[in-house]
Amino acid sequence: MKLCDAHCHLHFESLTPWLPEALETAKGAGLAAAVVNGTRQGDWAQVTAFCSRENWVLPAYGIHPWHAAGRGGAWEKELNALLEASPSASVGEIGLDLWIEGHDLADQTVLFRRQLAIAREHRRPATVHCVRAWEPLRQCLKKEAAPDCGFLIHAFAGSEDLIPFFAECGAYFSFSPSFLAEKRQNRRQAFRRIPRKRILIETDAPDLGPPPELNPYPLTDAWTGKPLNHPANLRLSLEWLAAVLELSEEETAGLTTGNWRRLFGSGDFGPSE
Ligand SMILES: [Zn+2]
Repeated sequence: MKLCDAHCHLHFESLTPWLPEALETAKGAGLAAAVVNGTRQGDWAQVTAFCSRENWVLPAYGIHPWHAAGRGGAWEKELNALLEASPSASVGEIGLDLWIEGHDLADQTVLFRRQLAIAREHRRPATVHCVRAWEPLRQCLKKEAAPDCGFLIHAFAGSEDLIPFFAECGAYFSFSPSFLAEKRQNRRQAFRRIPRKRILIETDAPDLGPPPELNPYPLTDAWTGKPLNHPANLRLSLEWLAAVLELSEEETAGLTTGNWRRLFGSGDFGPSE
């Protein structure tokens, strides 16, 4: 079974002490390809370094809304140069977040729309983070067209009623191990409403892990003692998504891997069938 992680941050330093064992375990659980997302100018070089070491992953470069205020004046030039240098790179993680303290929605919107336009100009997919900003995201997509090749709303937690609009705009939606929490049953059930050809699985590792009692791969941040999401938890996303869709795990793996390849794996990249 070959599984593709649609969204993660395997380059984050908190995972470094656990690599390469964690990647061996994840590959044993089926992990065959992944999109590794930068979150700010300061980590783009780490994304590049990680992806050149691990040739089975694809890079994504973007400025996360949490880091909007910290961007430097040359960000746009730098992002364009990275996309030109790497034909398999996409744009992410970008988006809108009204949960984070001190958010500046107007500034986040300017940055998000510009990054979406850059993805469109380079004909690359984009990966979108959206927390408590569903109506602003809808408004942005009405004004700023998404790339023709599509975009991902990672860990989709929006209202079911918005699914048709986002799908019409070219959205794919990924299922996260964080949806396994009891209180997030409605997040899981929403995936029954998503067109099958637009469903992906992700980990967001080392962030957004499953509840501890359901976590077969516990991992701890060596510096802070906080739990980390193990890259092998992609298997949990697969198993729980399969149950939600009432498909076998093999069928769900085939479906999500095919969708991943269509969105991210242009050319020869990605696991063979
Ligand atoms: Zn992320």
